[in-house]
Amino acid sequence: MFPVSPPRAWAEIDLGALRRNLSVAREAIGGAQMAVVKAGAYGHGLEEIARALATEDIAFFGVANVGEARRIRNAGVDTRIYLLGATWAEEREEIVAREWTPCISSIEEAGQFNRLAAARGIRLKVHLAVDTGMGRGGFVAENLPETLALLERLEHLEIEGLGSHLPSADEDRDFTLRQFEEFHAILASLGGASRFKWVHLANSAGLLGYSAGDCNLSRPGLMLYGISPLDGFQARLSTVMTLKSRVTLVRTLPAGHGVSYGRQFVTRRETRVATIGIGYGDGYPRHVSGKGADVWIRGRRLPILGRVTMDQMMVDVTDAGDVCEGDEVEIFGPNIPVTEIAAKGETIVWEIFTGITPRVMRCYLD
Ligand SMILES: *Cc1c(COP(=O)(O)O)cnc(C)c1O
Repeated sequence: MFPVSPPRAWAEIDLGALRRNLSVAREAIGGAQMAVVKAGAYGHGLEEIARALATEDIAFFGVANVGEARRIRNAGVDTRIYLLGATWAEEREEIVAREWTPCISSIEEAGQFNRLAAARGIRLKVHLAVDTGMGRGGFVAENLPETLALLERLEHLEIEGLGSHLPSADEDRDFTLRQFEEFHAILASLGGASRFKWVHLANSAGLLGYSAGDCNLSRPGLMLYGISPLDGFQARLSTVMTLKSRVTLVRTLPAGHGVSYGRQFVTRRETRVATIGIGYGDGYPRHVSGKGADVWIRGRRLPILGRVTMDQMMVDVTDAGDVCEGDEVEIFGPNIPVTEIAAKGETIVWEIFTGITPRVMRCYLD
């Protein structure tokens, strides 16, 4: 028998922090929440996050597709499920049978949902999606009262919700304020807030930075995972994911020695170099190479040297004489903000989180 080898990279997921962030969303805008758990709960683990939030009085889980909806049900979670994107015709029988909630972007798909619901003798709850600027789905805001009237004639559908999406809530305040106004004008033209059980527009940035008006449901994603897309709110949120690795090797290189592919970094002095067991094959962005990113070892920030490789990267530990093989390394988390890594990698935190690969073991703390 051989000993079990510990993982070289793992992500600690703090479920208490997740729940605290949900409370921040609740306090910020009020109303009910659709917890957005698409893309494996932003890389945090779909089943575990759904189970952790299932007892928190969530109105819906928002998922990208039927596969994610199935995984939530297979995890034994029976919270209502909302499909955030378009569905394919072949998926709709299952959606109707399991009474998941689609958003409707065309009369044709509504017709098919209606026929499938009729065949089962049920009324399927659906939401009318309106495109107020995102350009990705929903009905464009023309002739909406006529569209709603057509949909209401489909007897096996219940149009219980009206939703739209914000493309620029974290980038363009004026546009977003106009979008909230336009959405409310649309709502009024469709009979007002009392016509729908659920009215929803805000993502994380929308719910943190704007007032709800007549919306009674918000759709937080990123903020549940501890990151504010808007300045000024980060201090209220708690870190959920800490990405960690270990020092696998420490060596001393002479001055003038290249480090990593392409020899983009060459030592200027005798340098103690720690090799760390994580790389872009774990989802750490290779693009941060040479951008001055740090890791955290034994209470210090230490700089990454040269290019990030697939499975390993190198760190200058010359000024941290106590660093040794087996030491734990924080790649991002409470000491190295993931926002910093995203900025250095010229990308967004959403992409960093969802890019953490399956090789990284997720460990849950509660
Ligand atoms: C992903 C998504 C959200 C969540 O967005 P965050 O910015 O992560 O809060 C909300 N609504 C829709 C329609 C989405 O696709």
